Amino acid sequence: MGPCLSETELISRFFQFGIPDHWPTQGIGDDCAILEIGSTCLAVTTDTVAGGTHFLPDANPYTIGKKALAVNLSDLAAAGAVPRCFFLALSLPQADAVWLEAFSRGLSEEARAFACPLVGGDTTKTTQIGDVRAPFSITITAIGEAQKPLTRQGATVGDDIWVSGTPGDAYLALMLRTGQWRGECNNYLARAMDTPTPRVALGQFLSRHASACADISDGFLKDLGNILNRSKVGAEVYIDRLAVSDDLSKRSMNERRQAQLAGGDDYELVWTAPVCEREAIWDYARRRAQEGEAIALSRVGTITDSGLKLLDKNGCEIENSFFGFDHFAQ
Ligand code: ADP
Ligand code: MG
Repeated sequence: MGPCLSETELISRFFQFGIPDHWPTQGIGDDCAILEIGSTCLAVTTDTVAGGTHFLPDANPYTIGKKALAVNLSDLAAAGAVPRCFFLALSLPQADAVWLEAFSRGLSEEARAFACPLVGGDTTKTTQIGDVRAPFSITITAIGEAQKPLTRQGATVGDDIWVSGTPGDAYLALMLRTGQWRGECNNYLARAMDTPTPRVALGQFLSRHASACADISDGFLKDLGNILNRSKVGAEVYIDRLAVSDDLSKRSMNERRQAQLAGGDDYELVWTAPVCEREAIWDYARRRAQEGEAIALSRVGTITDSGLKLLDKNGCEIENSFFGFDHFAQ
């Protein structure tokens, strides 16, 4: 066996084939590939969720269906795209009608809520290893339309850094459910982990105001790091400015920071925007609150030339010992 690589090394070493100049796309490295087809700009993403890797063994198939699509819609949100349709590739250990009924109900409800119909896919049985069949694996490819697409490139020195929601709640739920942290997983936290809300409307608003954007699937600092790498800039982040839920604010400082900064599975957005967009962004938050759909937005830092500096509320630098999620981390 050869040396083991991280997820990022694996992709950059073996799958960045390069894109011919005449192909109308920006290539690998953003939440969506952006394809210019005539006067239309398509945003395309694909994400897999697998039993045992992304879900606990007792996960409810209804929420599996919802979340399998939500994580893809979240990538479309990061591109500022309007969802148009999706494909479903299902790999199942068996065709269990009860499981499938609940899964299909969750999936179709999410599809209807975001006006994103299922238009094709593929169905197979998972491999048998000894007497046991491998758990399910669900791959969704989602396609959206973006008039002014956002990518992880485009952040420039002096831009503000913003975050939606209260990152860390899904990770707190996971730690409580698996008994790694003490306490009960309440309904609010269970919803954060099982049925995240892809920030599709926010993403579309940001496509007119932000300079770069990513969704938070692997942890706030890791996904912000993707923006910094892709845009070739650095950042100063005041970590105590991130909005925090009541549940997470009651945890120890260590747990809170671990969940907020490296937790992952939040499907919130992190974006950069020029200072002149501040009012427009706060105004969006006010309008959403007036419409009864309040969403927490936090302005947490500034884009710099290089490096990533984390500061606490007193402006003291703290060590960055927070590593986001990597499927192949050692
Ligand atoms: P996301 O979390 O939004 O799915 P990641 O940060 O995990 O995206 O992936 C980084 C980039 O690598 C994305 O542009 C993604 O499309 C691409 N990518 C991931 N796996 C592969 C692969 N096996 N082959 C080609 N591109 C890949
Ligand atoms: Mg993403």
